[in-house]
Amino acid sequence: MYDIAKIREDFPILSREVYKRTLVYLDNGATTQKPRVVVDAMTNEYYSVNANVHRGVHFLSQQATELHEGSRETVRKFVNARSTNEIVFTRGTTESMNLLAYSFGEAFMKEGDEVIVSTMEHHSNIVPWQLLQARKGIVIRVIPMNDAGELLMDEYKKLFNERTRLVSVAHVSNVLGTINPVKQMIAYAHEQGVPVAVDGAQSTPHMPVDVQDLDADFFAFSGHKVYGPTGVGVLYGKENLLEKLPPYQGGGEMIQRVSFEKTTFNELPFKFEAGTPDYIATTGLAKALDYVSALGMDNIYLHEQELTSYAMQQLQLMPEIHIYGTAKEKDAVISFNVGNIHHLDIGTLLDRLGIAVRTGHHCAEPLMQRLGIEGTVRASFGLYNTKEEVDTFIAGVDRVRKMF
Ligand code: PLP
Repeated sequence: MYDIAKIREDFPILSREVYKRTLVYLDNGATTQKPRVVVDAMTNEYYSVNANVHRGVHFLSQQATELHEGSRETVRKFVNARSTNEIVFTRGTTESMNLLAYSFGEAFMKEGDEVIVSTMEHHSNIVPWQLLQARKGIVIRVIPMNDAGELLMDEYKKLFNERTRLVSVAHVSNVLGTINPVKQMIAYAHEQGVPVAVDGAQSTPHMPVDVQDLDADFFAFSGHKVYGPTGVGVLYGKENLLEKLPPYQGGGEMIQRVSFEKTTFNELPFKFEAGTPDYIATTGLAKALDYVSALGMDNIYLHEQELTSYAMQQLQLMPEIHIYGTAKEKDAVISFNVGNIHHLDIGTLLDRLGIAVRTGHHCAEPLMQRLGIEGTVRASFGLYNTKEEVDTFIAGVDRVRKMF
């Protein structure tokens, strides 16, 4: 059913060599490789359709607009939103979170109001709130976690008070792999009358996502992490909330009428999409979502869970390995250190063996502070990784360990 050899043929880069060794690509948390159908669709659009969307009466412009708006419908289906009005195209999760912090902050937050985030957030779900803090004097509350990397739900509940305006939390940690219980967290927040934003950058590539089932008020993700192109992402928002938020940027596309006296804004979702959108990238994103949907997000999840548990077992057998993130609900990300060896040295030596991993703080410095470390080595799996690649990786780590 899940024919890995056939799947790998769809990704030309996987058969290239680095340092005369076949590439073992385990940096999928940072970005994923692209199947041929994604690149082909984008190339074809440049060659045979390209025209600016929305504004043209001519044939090509209309065709490009149909493709672009068709991609929005593909995204809507992928996350099961009610309407395409709820799908805002952005440059990626980072821009989605900045849009949200700016517009939600303008509409709903004043000095002393509070947002709840967690210890394990990516900087893109911390710094936009800090910018709002500097602008408006809001307060940022942080959900603590245990040593396994699980958020403490009792502590979470204690953070709510009459000044809480929003919860903004990662669905899956990009460092620990923890799958946070966002559905329960949302249900609790809603009981308190507080909406919830979910950073889905690390969940959308690995598991089925249903924003209606989660009852998420906002949900952000990046195209390039889900086998699509760079430069495009999504902010989902419930229509009644998006209606109330002011625009994030001004310019073409986002207006209805402009005069020097008064400007009126376009309807959803265009109110949040100033300027020419990356309509080629939205085509690529839609192709990527079609691709993973055809494989089945459930099948991808199962395949990656197998790889992750196998890699965890093998790593745990090795002496001197410290793994960060051993939550019961864990996704395809493994962060670790080996004895006192610097993570950068491990990453560099693995690279020489053709194994691509990521090292450093992974844009989660507050989490590193909680763990009392500078950084980790991170291996993250994708739909095309194999058990043999995990073996190569484990042998590589063992070799590096013995060298020191
Ligand atoms: N949130 C999480 C959990 C991430 O892992 C990342 C990227 O690593 C981001 C947000 C930011 O995504 P992007 O750089 O695509 O905007």
